[in-house]
Amino acid sequence: MEYPSKLIEDAVNEVSKLPGIGKKTALRLVLHLLKRDEDQTEALSNSLTAMRLNVKYCQKCHNLSDNELCTICASHKRDQSLICVVEDTRDVLAIENTAQYKGLYHVLGGIISPVEGIGPSDLQIDSLIDRLKGSESEQVREIILAISPTMEGDTTAFYLQKKLKPFNLKISTIARGVPIGGDLEYADEVTLGRSILSRIAYE
Ligand SMILES: [Zn+2]
Repeated sequence: MEYPSKLIEDAVNEVSKLPGIGKKTALRLVLHLLKRDEDQTEALSNSLTAMRLNVKYCQKCHNLSDNELCTICASHKRDQSLICVVEDTRDVLAIENTAQYKGLYHVLGGIISPVEGIGPSDLQIDSLIDRLKGSESEQVREIILAISPTMEGDTTAFYLQKKLKPFNLKISTIARGVPIGGDLEYADEVTLGRSILSRIAYE
């Protein structure tokens, strides 16, 4: 495509690097910004830069957070006896949206995938074990494995269950109302909420 401006071309190239956005959509978004107030573009780029520079991972559960501890870990209202293990922050959001779960989380940052070369040491598994050995050893009673029921998810759950066995905790998994092969974040809220309440012992 021939662009009338090098500046527009650069902007289109950057925007089209985002997933799911082709050159046509990128051009539409760029032209949209050109029609709006300059303030709007400035606010957009400022918020993206601030987000990129300042968002960190919660030191305890590895959820995304503005502070050292995320709002969930920092809250005294959460049930400290439950840790729900999920693949990433999107799963935390999906489960929080159900308003059915009041415990804590642990975000693995992915799942075991030999095809993609992701092994247990690439995930936040040791830090989960450290939590159970350390300051939280007195409080935690149950670990809920809320991992997508795919082949990789099942491998990850199996690995975790072996690692967690020595701690003598209740290990449960969310009921399979969640569509097989579907990601947690796409499960509808009612189904996901129910599957957390009616979780079953892992076997
Ligand atoms: Zn946290």
